[in-house]
Amino acid sequence: MNRFRYYFAAGMAAAVILSGCAGTDAAKETEEAPVTTVDGYTYSDDASDFVLLSEAVPDVILEIRYYSTYNFVGDRIDGYEEPVALLTKEAAAALNDVSDELKEKGYRLKIYDAYRPQKAVDHFVRWAEDVEDTRMKPYFYPDLEKDQLFPLGYIDAHSGHSRGSTVDLTLFDMNTEKEVDMGGTFDWFGELSHPDYTDITEEQYANRMILREAMLNHGFRPLAEEWWHFTLDEEPYPDTFFTFPVCRASVE
Ligand SMILES: [Zn+2]
Repeated sequence: MNRFRYYFAAGMAAAVILSGCAGTDAAKETEEAPVTTVDGYTYSDDASDFVLLSEAVPDVILEIRYYSTYNFVGDRIDGYEEPVALLTKEAAAALNDVSDELKEKGYRLKIYDAYRPQKAVDHFVRWAEDVEDTRMKPYFYPDLEKDQLFPLGYIDAHSGHSRGSTVDLTLFDMNTEKEVDMGGTFDWFGELSHPDYTDITEEQYANRMILREAMLNHGFRPLAEEWWHFTLDEEPYPDTFFTFPVCRASVE
């Protein structure tokens, strides 16, 4: 497929999906029960406690990788209908405090992902099962065989992101106007992504710690495997996985 046809097809797909975003309102109007339980997991379509991150944290920079095609799958991920970020209002308020603290040190927060709908996680699982599709292997998992991603825990059927109080982010340096060098990149599948990995430069390690300390100062907990991933420790929905799409209409 040539580039023009590719972008045309992507645009058409976006148009179709966008109508799905509007459909969220229709579901509300019919008073469809927003909460269901399947195999012991609780799912909710109720976005009433969620906010648009760019409004709650006005200084954030967004680079929503699962809306783009530059991610480990290589396609736009299901449920990402606009390049926006949503979080629970509790997590967004805490993140605003992080942003204020780091702004004084010359940084802005750059967001890769926040709330992630269950259907996006389902897309990851479907992709992981298709072991022939290794288009993005050179960029995200060159040292791993794709059939190991599920057993090793890189892909799971549920994600904390779907509970709405987890965020993937890095630092943007306002002086250099560049992303801060963390000695590793978002969604790299490997030990290099562990926040305590020491086979990087002292400066890279120190940069990871600047982000980590600021997040922990404002109530987030880290993840041992990913320097960019944090969850609000007192998340308001610890047992609920949300299903509404990532788009402005979900929270309007
Ligand atoms: Zn994450």
